[in-house]
Amino acid sequence: MIFLKTREEIEIMRAAAQLVSKTLAMLAPMVKPGVTPIHLDKLAEEFVRDHGAIPVFKGYKGGRGVPDFPATLCFSINEAVVHGIPGNIPLKNGDIASIDCGVKLNGYVGDHAYTFAVGEISPATQKLIDVTKESLYKGIEQMITGNRIGDISHAIQQHAEKHGYGVVRELIGHGLGKNLHEEPEVPNYGKKTDGPKLKEGMVIAIEPMINMGRKEIKHLKDGWTIITADGLPSAHFEHDVAFIDGKADILSNYQIIEEAIQLTKH
Ligand code: MG
Ligand code: MG
Repeated sequence: MIFLKTREEIEIMRAAAQLVSKTLAMLAPMVKPGVTPIHLDKLAEEFVRDHGAIPVFKGYKGGRGVPDFPATLCFSINEAVVHGIPGNIPLKNGDIASIDCGVKLNGYVGDHAYTFAVGEISPATQKLIDVTKESLYKGIEQMITGNRIGDISHAIQQHAEKHGYGVVRELIGHGLGKNLHEEPEVPNYGKKTDGPKLKEGMVIAIEPMINMGRKEIKHLKDGWTIITADGLPSAHFEHDVAFIDGKADILSNYQIIEEAIQLTKH
């Protein structure tokens, strides 16, 4: 069942989403060669808790003998698609790091992600990042009255495949609210006629996971990390978006993250 949100609930969700944006912006200047993901995770957890929120990924149930997720951030480097566990190997020049963060603030969840370049990256990898982010916005543009979730999915897939990239099938976006994962499912591939119609008060996390090469993935033995089967890099961008007055209202915010990245370049 899809839980539609009131305006009041959406404003609480905006605060949760913005706290994630602020967390990612706080980390942005430190996503550089020599820094360990585990250090960034520690800073993120402190920042989230200092702002009165709870990290929602930490302790997320693994099931099937897999330990619960141990960190505040999902930290996925290069061929890691999503759900990477922050480790103690320092970032290297030329890496890309997809950082995903989920928080619960005043009972509602924010869940949003950005792929960062570590130092100087290759033009091919930069293009993967750019196209993945563009595909997210192509999806959001489809949030107009009368459209379905499938219109979002189709737009994302079209844009990524136009550039020869692989669109991950096994992992998808989702409804968001009091829980991290609610209905509806929001795949990054599909037909325009698929899925439920957009309704006032729907809040969804749209999150293209786009591979430079083939779409197939593998699971690492840690039970969490998803990597590309061909070992080529993957990028991940995620926004929390409400459907209000027949259009998209993006609750999360890349502007403050990108301002923080720019500041460190100068
Ligand atoms: Mg996420
Ligand atoms: Mg998500």
